[in-house]
Amino acid sequence: MGIIRRTKSVKALLNEFVQTKMALSTMELVERLHHQMNKSTVYRILERLEDDGILHSFAGKDGLTWYALCNNNGCSHQQHRDTHPHFQCRDCGKTECLPISIPIPEVAEHRIDSVSLLLIGKCADCIS
Ligand SMILES: [Zn+2]
Ligand SMILES: [Zn+2]
Repeated sequence: MGIIRRTKSVKALLNEFVQTKMALSTMELVERLHHQMNKSTVYRILERLEDDGILHSFAGKDGLTWYALCNNNGCSHQQHRDTHPHFQCRDCGKTECLPISIPIPEVAEHRIDSVSLLLIGKCADCIS
């Protein structure tokens, strides 16, 4: 593992997360960063940041992979892995980590490592 080198590309990518404070899909990131790096660089950096526990990924309702910062919105690096659900707005597509924790169920003769739960509905902006 080890801490990832903070190259210019890594900084630019992390900056997108810091600024939006939301989850971002790989497609969105590739689009936002296309002036600075190519698609495969975006994918490679995302993979490394996830390995280092800086980002975590999950699947959205559209089948895209989404990434969000760890240590943010109740996602703690210590408890790690997907013990918190994600929310996706049906109307505007806003996607975020929810600051609640889902207990990992005990299932006889199975070892459960992670839980993935996607809640779909309307965000605060779209309800009103
Ligand atoms: Zn919305
Ligand atoms: Zn999350």
